[in-house]
Amino acid sequence: MKKTFFLLAFCAVSFGLTAQSKDSLMVASIVKEASRQQLITLAHELTDVVGPRLVGTPQMKKAHDWAVSKYSSWNIAARNEKWGEWRGWERGVSHIDMIHPRVQTLEGRQLAWSPSTGSKGVTADVIIIADLQDSVKFQQWLPNVKGKFVLISMSQPTGRPDYNWEEFATKESFEKMKAARTSETEAWAKRLRKTGLGTKPLALALENAGAAGIIVSNWSRGFGANKIFGASTSKIPTVDLSLEDYGMLYRLVESGNKPRITVRAESKELGMTPAFNTLAEIKGNQLPDEYVMLSAHFDSWDGATGATDNGTGTIVMMEAMRILKQVYPNPKRTILVGHWGSEEQGLNGSRAFVEDNPQIVKNLQALFNQDNGTGRVVNISGQGFLHAYDFIGRWLAKVPANIRDQIETRFPGTPGGGGSDFASFVAAGAPGFSLSSNSWSYGTYTWHTNRDTYDKIVFDDVQNNAILTAILVYMACEDTEKTPRDKAILPGSSRTGEPGKWPVERKATRKGGVD
Ligand SMILES: [Zn+2]
Repeated sequence: MKKTFFLLAFCAVSFGLTAQSKDSLMVASIVKEASRQQLITLAHELTDVVGPRLVGTPQMKKAHDWAVSKYSSWNIAARNEKWGEWRGWERGVSHIDMIHPRVQTLEGRQLAWSPSTGSKGVTADVIIIADLQDSVKFQQWLPNVKGKFVLISMSQPTGRPDYNWEEFATKESFEKMKAARTSETEAWAKRLRKTGLGTKPLALALENAGAAGIIVSNWSRGFGANKIFGASTSKIPTVDLSLEDYGMLYRLVESGNKPRITVRAESKELGMTPAFNTLAEIKGNQLPDEYVMLSAHFDSWDGATGATDNGTGTIVMMEAMRILKQVYPNPKRTILVGHWGSEEQGLNGSRAFVEDNPQIVKNLQALFNQDNGTGRVVNISGQGFLHAYDFIGRWLAKVPANIRDQIETRFPGTPGGGGSDFASFVAAGAPGFSLSSNSWSYGTYTWHTNRDTYDKIVFDDVQNNAILTAILVYMACEDTEKTPRDKAILPGSSRTGEPGKWPVERKATRKGGVD
């Protein structure tokens, strides 16, 4: 007995640990290295100090430089790679006050790329876009907007989200509200349609007719939450007001109380500015030309600070990189992280990377992207790769049960045609996967809203995701097999009977924000 034990111990020392126990030790090290405090620091620096990261803004560049310096502080080689250029714009002060029939500061902000009012702002009466018979009548009415702020959104009948009605209303009044809202929504859409103009041409027609500015309210169906996108005007400000304040102005116009507001919306045009991706790399020591990638878009809309879209995906990837560098500094394959620019305007940073780096795309073992909020990962799809079950199954098997048991998998799944940056790789036939998180009311409260801020981050879930990502990356690096790229036969259209098609590669917009 004694002799056998000695012999086994000798074997373990001299021939190395079995793959099984080597993996278990590595997973334990990854879990141990993961640091909530690191995530908290990264989230604060990115969302509170750098702030929103709209393409073409100085804050976007600041974010890229911040990421490079973070990686450098962890001894990970990092660089910013220019892939194109974008209209440069810098958001300044937004301040909106009602000054008649009484004084009240309103909750709102200019949309991205809104033209500046200068520091004095613009003071004018408010009117509602008229409900007219047709486009001819609309053209005749247009001179009425001269010198006025024009309300062009529907006034919502309730600022309470449906879940709140569901909880407290009688069934009858909930149904009645929904029916009224549906007919008001249809009537408003018809009012806009009868102008004969789409969204942008309508904004430009109002601008050309001498309007003082355009006021919208893009409610996101949650308390206090509005979606904040970009302005279509080129001379006059476009601002979004909260549902509450927009509704008040609307009712005051209708009741003949002639509301008057001052809008101060300052901004700077900065000409064309370079647009970047940030990349960081831990070189592989056996198969350096094969790549395992971490992926998350770095840009955001700028109604808030982009905390969950995609601050959380960003810090998951950064923390996973930091952990890997600590516990797995000599990976078999090369580990590369992409923090992409301009995802929000059409996956531009990642599409450009795919176009510019065919060798990396060709030798991609796997890519893991995260971009749907702060929640823990609950879904992974094989993206239509026939053998995804085998390799993702192998890798997931090593993930601790408390993380793995949360995840539903779909194999082979269907290839994502868009939605986030993994799709840029899938379109090129490369194994890109989405680590898809649970909702935390993402669509209502934080996705592209004025409420996407630090306080919405759930650090336990983000840490869960950093550990999961680090383990998947480690397993993909160590795998003895290169991932096969065979495509599954995709389900056909039930309507036409045509076979399903793989998404096609699309070109990045390399010169953006200009017509
Ligand atoms: Zn996103």
